[in-house]
Amino acid sequence: MSAALLRNLAGSAFLALFLGVGFYVPQVRAGSLDYQLAPRLVAEDTWVLIGKREDFSRSNGGNIVNTAFVVTTDGVVVIDSGPSRLYAEQMRSAIARITPKPVIRVFNTHHHPDHFLGNQVFADVSTTALAETIAGQRREGGAFADNVYRLSGDWIKGTEPVAARDPVGPGTLLIGDHRFELIALSGHTEGDLVIRDLGTGVLFAGDLVFHNRAPTTPHASISQWLAALDRLDAITYRTMVPGHGEPVSDGRAVEQTRRYLRWIESALLQAAERGEEMSEVLGLELPKEFAEIPLAREEFARSVAHLYRGYEATTLRHRR
Ligand SMILES: [Zn+2]
Repeated sequence: MSAALLRNLAGSAFLALFLGVGFYVPQVRAGSLDYQLAPRLVAEDTWVLIGKREDFSRSNGGNIVNTAFVVTTDGVVVIDSGPSRLYAEQMRSAIARITPKPVIRVFNTHHHPDHFLGNQVFADVSTTALAETIAGQRREGGAFADNVYRLSGDWIKGTEPVAARDPVGPGTLLIGDHRFELIALSGHTEGDLVIRDLGTGVLFAGDLVFHNRAPTTPHASISQWLAALDRLDAITYRTMVPGHGEPVSDGRAVEQTRRYLRWIESALLQAAERGEEMSEVLGLELPKEFAEIPLAREEFARSVAHLYRGYEATTLRHRR
């Protein structure tokens, strides 16, 4: 060990003793688990809680997702309940600071854990999702909750996966003075519910749209997802709230998601046609426009794991 390193270590030890902190990264204490949810008004009666563009971690507690609520004359409509019991409790407190009206409806846009693990806090109201979403929540909720606990620790304590109770299909639904159009799509998962508020023109796109955050693909069908994005392009809206990333007032988040998915599709297909091993594909260079997006490298690696075998199978079929 060099003298300089020893001096450094001795210095750190002294500093640690002086500060009384020891040589460990301090864990977030139970009393300080505050998601600091700050609802942002994006249209009349319409508030969004913007999550961090990060992965689940012990510092963010899973606050990586956009959730939202709409205050109608009859009560509050919640769109996605967040990653944990604690998040949803703090969401309800945040709602109560804005309106005395009760929460009367919760929608889950799809079955991924960051969008529904708060459902247990809404046992007193209708929780609503597409049938495919409810099936996915029942099938995978337990594994999701375990995984999220492994990644985010104490924040997730006491979180039980509770599937939505009330299946819904496409159509319109009048709640108080707000009329919502429910649009049933798929591609990010087997059931992706898009909700358009026909009065305010806000479109809640769920995880069909990521904005400056790399898309996740564990249950994706890229071809169905691209078709769903075409459907979204045909819908008029004033404000689009993506599942992750900043809301937008134009088509740029849809376009970014489309370009990324098209690139993934062609890159994996071409690699499969070249007969590359998965380990080689992982080394592919990301185009500059995507390389700069938070989590692009990590999500690309996951997407290769999720999707590459499928592309290999397709090219093998072609060769036979
Ligand atoms: Zn998500």
